[in-house]
Amino acid sequence: MSHITPSRQQYLDVKAQYPDAIVLFRLGDFYETFDDDAQTAARELDLVLTSRPQGKNQRTPMAGVPYHAAESYIARLVAKGYKVALCEQMSETPINGLMPREVVRVFTAGTVIEPGMLDAARHNYLAAAIVDGDRVGLAYADITTGVFATTQFHGRRTLTEELARLHPAELLVPDSEHTLQEQARTVSHLPDWRFEEGNARQILLRHFGVASLDAFGCEQKSLATRAAGAILYYLQETQMGAVGQIQRLATYSVEGYMALDTATRANLELTESLGGERKGSLLGVLDKTVTAMGARLLRERVSRPLLDIAQLNNRFDQVQFFYDNALLRADLRATLKGLPDLERLTNRILSGKANPRDVENVKIALQAIPVIREQLAVSSEQFTSQQSPISNLQSLISTLDPCTEVADLINRAIPDDAPTNFNKMGVIRPGFSAELDGVMNSSANAREWVAGLEPRERERTGIASLKVGFNKVFGYYIEVTHANTPAVPADYIRKQTLTNAERYITPELKEYETLILNAEERILEIERRVFTEVCQQVAAYAPRLLQTAQAIAELDVAAGLAEAAANQGYSRPSLTNDNTLHVVNGRHPVVEQSLRLERFVPNDVHMTEKERIQIITGPNMSGKSTYLRQTALIVLMAQIGSFVPADEADVGLADRIFTRIGAHDELHAGRSTFMVEMVETAEILNHASHRSLLILDEIGRGTSTYDGLAIAWAIVEYLHNHPRLKPRTLFATHYHELVGLADLLPLVANYNVAVAEEGDKVLFLHHIVPGGADRSYGIHVAQLAGLPKDVVNRANELLHELEQHAPTTAVTPSRLSSGQQMALFPEASPLLEELAELDVNSMSPLEAINKLYEWKRRYVGG
Ligand code: ATP
Repeated sequence: MSHITPSRQQYLDVKAQYPDAIVLFRLGDFYETFDDDAQTAARELDLVLTSRPQGKNQRTPMAGVPYHAAESYIARLVAKGYKVALCEQMSETPINGLMPREVVRVFTAGTVIEPGMLDAARHNYLAAAIVDGDRVGLAYADITTGVFATTQFHGRRTLTEELARLHPAELLVPDSEHTLQEQARTVSHLPDWRFEEGNARQILLRHFGVASLDAFGCEQKSLATRAAGAILYYLQETQMGAVGQIQRLATYSVEGYMALDTATRANLELTESLGGERKGSLLGVLDKTVTAMGARLLRERVSRPLLDIAQLNNRFDQVQFFYDNALLRADLRATLKGLPDLERLTNRILSGKANPRDVENVKIALQAIPVIREQLAVSSEQFTSQQSPISNLQSLISTLDPCTEVADLINRAIPDDAPTNFNKMGVIRPGFSAELDGVMNSSANAREWVAGLEPRERERTGIASLKVGFNKVFGYYIEVTHANTPAVPADYIRKQTLTNAERYITPELKEYETLILNAEERILEIERRVFTEVCQQVAAYAPRLLQTAQAIAELDVAAGLAEAAANQGYSRPSLTNDNTLHVVNGRHPVVEQSLRLERFVPNDVHMTEKERIQIITGPNMSGKSTYLRQTALIVLMAQIGSFVPADEADVGLADRIFTRIGAHDELHAGRSTFMVEMVETAEILNHASHRSLLILDEIGRGTSTYDGLAIAWAIVEYLHNHPRLKPRTLFATHYHELVGLADLLPLVANYNVAVAEEGDKVLFLHHIVPGGADRSYGIHVAQLAGLPKDVVNRANELLHELEQHAPTTAVTPSRLSSGQQMALFPEASPLLEELAELDVNSMSPLEAINKLYEWKRRYVGG
């Protein structure tokens, strides 16, 4: 081992502590990587892979990046899912021949705080999940905003749904957990014991300085505690303990929100289109926010619809206020536009990683608060006189805290256009620190002397072109062109020869230089210290700053939703608990925006207790899918607190929206289209409730006609007959046979998309009308798509022939009595379902006999 150099040993020691990270090891002006890390870094960052000699006949692979550009290289590695440990030089001079070095930060996807590595318009979540049998603990945090929440629940399905909502940048799981690998972009493992309850509890108690977790609501929730503890441990480890921005922990319940499965989020294109872009999504048309705080909040709301009417009415009231006051809305939005991100800035200050410009930006944000308050005060008076419900808006306004002390402090301490790093002087305003001013003054004399040197020396030497300059290598110098060198005085000492000139120093100049440079070092050090003190004082106001940031976000969202409503013709929905749905002239918020020449045709939806299931038939491309999705989106928009694209909407709260749409392939996952369709349908049938809204588009399409029809038929029957179900359902289908169900099942109704035929031309009216369709117009669509004329003609001939000899199918709906249906699909029998779920042991004999009578009455009649 003797051939290992001390610095190599130092590197190996560091690497041993961070085996799963790429270690960037500071050597002079570079961060170097070695060995396997060097191979990886060279490959991922297009760096040149070199090597350095290591002992006899051995070379160590090495790849480095310049220290000043490190951030962008780290960002690229982190974006690719790597963990990066940054090992810094901790002193200017070696100790016992070796530079002291330490890891000062570990960068991972879920723990970065650098603005360049973050999307301003969304949270950057680190999540942790622990699965114990059927029980799950899930926690998440965003250290850039201070969010820290935890929960526990039953079932992996809910875990998948929550992770789909959060879209974490990084997911922590125990070493022994291998089933969650697909659930996040980056999955990091921690030793199992980090997830043990005792350890997790201790770490939380210590961080928050409390004796019990009662105040956070997770004292009795072991899994929630375990997940939260793992998060906090990981944050502390990656931030070297500096996680002051985590100031609270919220325990939440997944029951409080509308659950949305991954497929439904994707199908409804809530935050991104099926193509993966924000444009073309619901968020894309709704987001008129003008601050990063507002943009993040709106995204959260779109991802997490509510189930609480009172809370939603509050949100509507806020939107209504800004909808009714267009001028005020415009003024407010102009003030908010581009406002610095007070939430993330405050968190940077709390974490001790803020730079002077960050602190200045806090002041800029705070200076806007009085303006905002004034703008809102004027109209809220007007509004109160109209007796409209703005009390919650007023309480929001009252939480807008200008924190004058903080703004004043920053104003006194930090100059305008403050630098973004500490390498140069000028971080602290003159007059703020007596100590700093003292050092400044004493160096000022020296500076003045140097400043006067050029005219003095020109006069003394008679060299008119003589210049005094400064560079990092030689310090201050006097420069004289070659032509003038004969006139140079004897006390000049030559230091450097250039092509046209000589550079000199004088002993006196060097003395003043030392004075200036020493003072500069002192000044930088004092500025840094004073700046840290200012940050600490600002940090003491963090709760008020964050509350203000939250209020700004809410105002921005409310004004933004009002802007969308006003520009796009939305109206305020009314929410009820009665499990129905009435929409007058509803539109699809995204499709209506994308139409260029055509006008969007609005449609009504009426779902009552008597009409639960609508079968929608109609030609291809006529607008069935659009109608289905728009209905789901209107309900969802209402439940996030947005106005909706309709003239009127009475929305009975939906506990969930389920969608089964289209036949997107998942062949890469080894499952056929039809299998995926059936898996999703099974999920829906197993988890829907009476209060759910189901959007089923062309179920059964992926298999043979009869199989498909039979399955579709059975599903409608099941939904209709199951005693606990009967959810509001829109079922679009190409199987015209399904229209027969309406005759058999009282809660089923038929609708179709109107078509006008003019000669051999077909016009899609996009209008939903009662009744079933009798033709598909598939060949017409084929013609529109540009299929060769011969093929279209031949297809028309064949269709005609087929229609002449249509087989009388075994499952023609009108031929089936409900008794036959039971026999055809015994597994779908509601009676058997109910029987299976009956807890016979807990029934009295009387209850049992009553149940038997009830069943007989329901199925035989009488
Ligand atoms: P398929 O059965 O082939 O899946 P579909 O009946 O579900 O078709 P959609 O995909 O909903 O048809 O609509 C096809 C196109 O028709 C849309 O992309 C849109 O351009 C237009 N469209 C749909 N509904 C309307 C409407 N209400 N007003 C105007 N245009 C509409």
